[in-house]
Amino acid sequence: MEPPNIERLDEQTVQRIAAGEVVERPASVVKELIENSLDAGATRVAVSVEAGGTEGIRVRDDGVGIPEDQLEAAVAEHATSKIGDIEDLDHGVGTLGFRGEALYTVGAVSRLTVRSRPPGADAGAEITVEGGEVGDVRPAGCPEGTTIEVDDLFYNTPARKKFLKRTATEFDRINTVVTGYALANPGVAVSLEHDGRETFATEGNGDLRSAVLAVYGREVAEAMVDVGWEPDGSGPDAADPPVRGVTGLVSHPETTRSTREYLATYVNGRYVTASALREAVLDAYGGQLAPDRYPFAVLFVEVPPGDVDVNVHPRKLEVRFDEEPAVREAVEDAVEEALLDHGLIRSTAPRG
Ligand code: ADP
Ligand code: MG
Repeated sequence: MEPPNIERLDEQTVQRIAAGEVVERPASVVKELIENSLDAGATRVAVSVEAGGTEGIRVRDDGVGIPEDQLEAAVAEHATSKIGDIEDLDHGVGTLGFRGEALYTVGAVSRLTVRSRPPGADAGAEITVEGGEVGDVRPAGCPEGTTIEVDDLFYNTPARKKFLKRTATEFDRINTVVTGYALANPGVAVSLEHDGRETFATEGNGDLRSAVLAVYGREVAEAMVDVGWEPDGSGPDAADPPVRGVTGLVSHPETTRSTREYLATYVNGRYVTASALREAVLDAYGGQLAPDRYPFAVLFVEVPPGDVDVNVHPRKLEVRFDEEPAVREAVEDAVEEALLDHGLIRSTAPRG
């Protein structure tokens, strides 16, 4: 066998491989774009997709916008307005994004248009990126805020395109993502449209139950009870408790589905899939659930920002807690208390 000939990959190949790490499928693009809109302080975020997002994805917001002279930076590699250096990460980031790679990578594997008009600006402008080729900044008529369009995702990476599922499946994933953000941000009017048909639209009035009604319907909204838990202010941790609060809604034990998908947990406003949190919720129901049935839950857990590591892989939703047992216990107590208060579960023997 010949010894290997090691060569550096060309720029374009590196770019496309890297893009695959962040952008796996249309739903991952939607996630990045919604996070940008929320980071921009939007009060309305309208998502519309074509053919499960494979042909087109458009996210429009009314946020702070991107000034014309910043459009090039917005689509450049490792360019962000959100953190300055690694120290900022150690203090816990307050924004959903911070890597400065989403627009860059999406632009590498699609036809991307970023169009924006900051509130108060006389006119808007846009920039397009096609398969990593950045075009010129041009004037564009547009409302205040930002519109991002992503057409023909993966048109230049056929291997990745082939790996996509049926459009219905891709749309389901998009729906899950948009629903997750809509519930996490009841103060933001979030809407989703597929091939011109509205899937849901929340009012953005700040009321979580109203957002649940919009996305899951009346039957579910009426079966939800409020969760509200605070640390009791005693003990050695009283000054800086490991869990600052657990709030949200959980469903009656008979209003369930056959998948865990409707068990949504958020840590410091960020959607996460920590199995510890899901298990804590299920434990709280204490055997009142039918086998293989899962309740609806929308639960917000607040912990000190420095106690949770969000600096994991961009596509992964797992988090690591410094104080996992305390978080688990707080969530279980919070849900159990809510269910007991509403007479939805029977009191069990006092727990030791
Ligand atoms: P990140 O979100 O990690 O900073 P992105 O590639 O997603 O990286 O975005 C790059 C930059 O473009 C952001 O830091 C922000 O300044 C700007 N930007 C992107 N989307 C929007 C938006 N919808 N509204 C305002 N600014 C935006
Ligand atoms: Mg971003």
